[in-house]
Amino acid sequence: MIIKDLDRVKEVIRLSKEEEEAFKEVTKVYPFSSSLYYLKVASRSDAVRKMLLPSLEEVDPEVQKFGQDDPLNEEGDKKTPFLTHRYPDRVLIVTTNQCPVLCRYCMRKRNWKLKPFVIEDREIDRAIEYIKGNPKVRDVLISGGEPLSLPVEKLERLLIGLKRIETVEVVRIGTRLPVVDPEKVLREELLGLIEKAEKVWINTHFNHPDEITPEAKEACRALLKSSAPVNNQTVLLKGVNDSADTLERLFRGLQKIKVRPYYLFHCDPVKGVMHFSTTITKGLEILRELFRRISPLAIPYYAVDGLGGYGKVPLLPKRFKKVGDHYTFESFKGEIFTMADR
Ligand SMILES: *Cc1c(COP(=O)(O)O)cnc(C)c1O
Repeated sequence: MIIKDLDRVKEVIRLSKEEEEAFKEVTKVYPFSSSLYYLKVASRSDAVRKMLLPSLEEVDPEVQKFGQDDPLNEEGDKKTPFLTHRYPDRVLIVTTNQCPVLCRYCMRKRNWKLKPFVIEDREIDRAIEYIKGNPKVRDVLISGGEPLSLPVEKLERLLIGLKRIETVEVVRIGTRLPVVDPEKVLREELLGLIEKAEKVWINTHFNHPDEITPEAKEACRALLKSSAPVNNQTVLLKGVNDSADTLERLFRGLQKIKVRPYYLFHCDPVKGVMHFSTTITKGLEILRELFRRISPLAIPYYAVDGLGGYGKVPLLPKRFKKVGDHYTFESFKGEIFTMADR
């Protein structure tokens, strides 16, 4: 069940007067949408609440001053109306601007202002033709909006089309459905399709340990059972997850449900989202702390996406340097040791 209006929201979650005012004001510009499930999660978690409920900062011109609509120039690198080709071996297909849950920190907030779109069948065919004509493309990212909310027949046209292209080896679906509406993942026809399509990897999107509920765990388990590896992309968000303690709990919790942390994204400077930004320095400090505490198997790359379309740069905290013919390293305890470069 999808909830969009204030009266319905108030039946599930108690709002303060300020929150109610902000809801009315902000939704004139940026709408609200949630599943009943995720609204209930928000009612139990302040962090989730921040990701879900409108805040006046979204429309504060001073706060949003340095934000851009499309800082990564996804529109500029488009090769068909729905396909962005930036890296030599992988392409991105933005299939829709529709999501059951609108995250306040959305990197594609610009698309909220467009009228609802879902990729048409002929555009699916066009994207597939493009990929056929570019055999270097081995990895296809399917994003949105929420691609797992597309009609299953449409998803089938796309996934089976890609399955038939021999040069495509990996199809990644970027989805937040296991987190925000896990029950919707548990559809036989959807899970059956993922299995049948063979090349599918799921990239899901947990940001906070409070999102790892029994329901979300069950959804991830079903995806794993359908033979899709499940990886996770987190966004570093001020006031939500910008501490080593929170991220340690998140990444350990994900590993426990066999979801591999892949990326921790630095928050892109998107208009309407700037109030969630932290500094890169802070991100690196958190990462350094994580390497002291947990295995790299549970630590994602911290990635900055280059303004204007330079692409992602994965970062690690700097724990070594070359001095003459030696390297000096920093251990997980913070000790310094050296090794000759021979
Ligand atoms: C993020 C992204 C990809 C995938 O990049 P990876 O680093 O391989 O995850 C591909 N194309 C575009 C345009 C992207 O933004």
